[in-house]
Amino acid sequence: MDIQRIGVIGAGQMGNGIAHVCALAGYDVLLHDVKTEKIDAAFELIAMNLSRQVARGKISDADKDRAMKRLSAAPSLDAFSNVDLAIEAATEDEKVKRQIFQSLCPKLNKGAMIASNTSSISITRLASVTDRPERFIGLHFMNPVPLMQLVELIRGIATEEETFQAMQGLVKRLGKTPANSEDFPAFIVNRILLPMINEAVYTLYEGVGTVDAIDTAMRLGANHPMGPLQLADFIGLDTCLSVMQVLYEGLADSKYRPCPLLVKYVEAGWLGQKTKRGFYDYRGEKPVPTR
Ligand code: NAD
Repeated sequence: MDIQRIGVIGAGQMGNGIAHVCALAGYDVLLHDVKTEKIDAAFELIAMNLSRQVARGKISDADKDRAMKRLSAAPSLDAFSNVDLAIEAATEDEKVKRQIFQSLCPKLNKGAMIASNTSSISITRLASVTDRPERFIGLHFMNPVPLMQLVELIRGIATEEETFQAMQGLVKRLGKTPANSEDFPAFIVNRILLPMINEAVYTLYEGVGTVDAIDTAMRLGANHPMGPLQLADFIGLDTCLSVMQVLYEGLADSKYRPCPLLVKYVEAGWLGQKTKRGFYDYRGEKPVPTR
């Protein structure tokens, strides 16, 4: 399956990164979001991030210009009629994703493939709402996409070998490394990472340590590049909570119970860096712990 045109759905943190790396690798990319202003903001961010890569000598000015020319906005999914692959990177909510796939499928070419960047939701279940479960796959990029080397590949029960091979080829052309995961809640990386983050929130909730103490302890004591609460803010607390809920419900084990303090932050709309407040307040010059 030859992929030339890629449509990305969702222009948030992940969607803009996915559009960036695909355009840089030579694919024509359409970017869609339900909020059209998000598409313009994503293009601005991509231009800024590409300039940063130029300044670091990773790519040339000409590479940046070519990548920017390959990007176009898709205010509606109608524009997806000639894409070879649609990558869904919208909000981590199964209802939202199901609705997207239902409206997307009638617009697509018969042979087009669909990939979801979901962090945790069953690929088999998402594939079942489409008209092409054999051409549906999980393609789980890591944040920030231009910098992170790994992409998890997750086959649903019906995913055909040809689709899997095509996605392996895509990941390699993007200069990244694939890791295969079976289709179980949260796959490999988040199955291990999110319970650790949730435990860090419990540690805060129970007063074992402050935000600063917990992050310092894990940075200096476990040699993690970021503390778990800083990482939670970076991922997005809504995404963290959704992943824990999927683990809790999908594996029916109380050890995955989302911490009530994580729920409270999400209910307050304090979702981390993307809303400028989470376990840290990012509105000033330097992040300040909120607890
Ligand atoms: P985000 O909140 O930054 O962006 C989500 C975007 O989806 C928003 O711009 C929103 O307007 C858009 N959206 C919502 N409903 C839509 C619809 N019906 N049609 C089109 N667009 C719609 O979230 P994100 O961090 O970019 O996460 C997106 C996906 O990537 C989620 O499935 C998440 O689990 C996954 N993911 C996130 C991370 C991370 O670290 N944040 C890492 C890997 C994978």
